[in-house]
Amino acid sequence: MKQSDLLSDHFRIDAPHQKALKRLRISTVEDLLYYLPARYEDISEIQSVSGLSLGAEAVVYGQLSGLKSRKAWKSKRPIAEGFIEDGSAKIKVMWFNQPYLAKMYADGMYVKVAGKVAGSSGKLYIANPEVEKLDALPTDHHNSLFSGSTEEFDDTLYPIYRETKGITSKWLYHTALKCFEKGILDTLHDPLPKHMLDRYNLPELSTALVWIHSPKKAEHAQSARKRFAFEEVFYIQTQKALERAQVSAATTYQFKTTKAHLKEFTDRFPFKLTDSQNKSIDEILRDFNGNHAMSRLLEGDVGSGKTAVAASTAYAVATSRPPEGLGKKLEFGNLQVAYMAPTEILAKQHFESFIEYFHHLPIQIGLITGSGCMKFPSKVDPTKPTKISRAQLLKWVKNGEIPILIGTHALIYKSVEFKHLAYVIIDEQHRFGTNQRKQLAKKDERMPHLLSMTATPIPRTLALTIYGDLDITLLDEMPSGRKPIVTKVIGPSQQKEMYGHVRNELADGRQAYVICPRIDEPDPDKATALRLKSVTAEAARLKKDVFQEWNIGILHGKMKPAEKDAMMLKFANHEIDILVATSVVEVGVNVPNATNIIIEGAERFGLSQLHQLRGRVVRGTHQPYCFAVTESKSEKTRERLSALTQAKNGFELAEHDLQFRGSGELYGAKQSGLSDLGMEAIKNIKLVEAARNEAQKMVAEHPDLSRDFPLIHHKVTQTLESLHME
Ligand code: ADP
Ligand code: MG
Repeated sequence: MKQSDLLSDHFRIDAPHQKALKRLRISTVEDLLYYLPARYEDISEIQSVSGLSLGAEAVVYGQLSGLKSRKAWKSKRPIAEGFIEDGSAKIKVMWFNQPYLAKMYADGMYVKVAGKVAGSSGKLYIANPEVEKLDALPTDHHNSLFSGSTEEFDDTLYPIYRETKGITSKWLYHTALKCFEKGILDTLHDPLPKHMLDRYNLPELSTALVWIHSPKKAEHAQSARKRFAFEEVFYIQTQKALERAQVSAATTYQFKTTKAHLKEFTDRFPFKLTDSQNKSIDEILRDFNGNHAMSRLLEGDVGSGKTAVAASTAYAVATSRPPEGLGKKLEFGNLQVAYMAPTEILAKQHFESFIEYFHHLPIQIGLITGSGCMKFPSKVDPTKPTKISRAQLLKWVKNGEIPILIGTHALIYKSVEFKHLAYVIIDEQHRFGTNQRKQLAKKDERMPHLLSMTATPIPRTLALTIYGDLDITLLDEMPSGRKPIVTKVIGPSQQKEMYGHVRNELADGRQAYVICPRIDEPDPDKATALRLKSVTAEAARLKKDVFQEWNIGILHGKMKPAEKDAMMLKFANHEIDILVATSVVEVGVNVPNATNIIIEGAERFGLSQLHQLRGRVVRGTHQPYCFAVTESKSEKTRERLSALTQAKNGFELAEHDLQFRGSGELYGAKQSGLSDLGMEAIKNIKLVEAARNEAQKMVAEHPDLSRDFPLIHHKVTQTLESLHME
């Protein structure tokens, strides 16, 4: 057996099984060995249902059944209920005021349930429990759910792998063990050099594999996880360092903009730039004047004024001459800017903002999206934009007549050619690599400068990892005079008051968002389906019980982009008053009249995501409100949520999340492409910095990585592929 062998060469794998493995991206022996347990269950801690007594803090594992929701018959409070059964006995679970919970879980699901045992003897139930959906049950020491399996696990540590339909955690475990038995470990070569392992006290590959898949001791598992975490971050950092080297090696457009020239532009703004904005602009202009292409990330909360920075620096570019045009009298042909937005609506919004910023100048602005092209100014009415054909727009971009082109992904299409593309600005794109950047520039071998902008609050370690090839600028100051969002944590007893407030706001002509709870479900398709259900159910409930006289629309991830856009447009035009949406739909579309946001099931979100969600209501001149609704009675949960009412910015909250909730909760985790283990790693700043230093050294000392370290090169290429897979 070799690690490059297909698993199917050694094991009997039928077609459905094969398909399931493909979903987990496992095809070779190597893939399987690197498919690491998500966690371990310590089976000595599990309580049995039959042993529970009144008042106990129960933690039980079992299967759900009999889920339904109803109304309590005196108080008419909605109740969700069901049973959990672990083989020893069955006990009722009840949630009050959270009817949607019954819809979020399904009969037959394996779960871990934690909560207080209430009721009366003979009629015990677990009240308002926290439920965690499991891929598999830990081996059962009451010996009924997994009969016959217990003797295989003498140890109390039992690895749990992420499952998918058709592949169980148990199968993954046993297959890994069988690979060990077939002698795979003797054939392995550790890609990481020994001196690196020694320096950080990491176990060598074959030891680490045994320790991670079947640990005898918790410390062994820990040590192995550290090794694989280091390894993953190291590969990502190596890949980033290679990209960085590639950018540094390329030529670029080098030009200088004077302070006085820029001031002519910014003096016209209806506001004074913040110190943070000024500093960012200075940094970018300095980069333009350097001899390497800029690679910079601009991080700033929604409303911190990133667009003004983008516009000011775009102005510097669009008023500069290419070197070959210097001294010549050309009609046009200045340096060009491409500004890419994640959605069509956002592209249009940027186009409109740029018109505001540039309308007094003889600088033309183009817009290209899937559904058409525009240009400002129109020849007929120079105060307005006009529709033009794609062919016409492309011609003007190609001959340099249009120096600023804004658009969606349509910008990267083959047919879009620039004359002198010097500056690329991208908004909320997590995967914009060097190749895409070069692609945009086409035949021009000069690498354009890059400014990547994001409002996603992520902790520093994560930024260093996923943006390892970028210099980071923080816009950590809000323009003065903004009304800070009034944020309230709402418990069950305050809901009436909250709805009363929102009704008053609606009556005053405002609009509101209602965000439905996040649903944790390892199968993304199922999670989306469940979310969709909760959005539809919540919209119906609100229409029936709370906001009868208002128009309610829904928005969720299963809708087609065009449907989403149409719904957003309806909301922006105030054809609907309340938008009930999933958290999936969260790009910062600007609806200044929407000043209220209700976030249901707030305890299920990380603070940084809550912050991101409430960012939707900061745009207007009216006082914005955010209601974080939770049913949780836990003191800790309320306390955690109350951090929202104090934090100065999203980055503070992101660090908070990382420390208090763990990386799985971290916003931005999904888009980062990191594995669960990699995410765990970023809790450890020392590890991230060490991996980063080693990677930079490796790339500096071995520019020909594929020759000097073919195994590392192979892994880095694999990492790149998985990062670019959605
Ligand atoms: P972001 O893209 O970071 O979310 P924008 O650039 O869209 O933020 O700015 C949000 C709003 O704040 C815009 O209406 C913009 O005109 C305004 N704005 C930007 N900078 C300032 C400033 N320094 N002072 C006051 N208002 C500002
Ligand atoms: Mg913006």
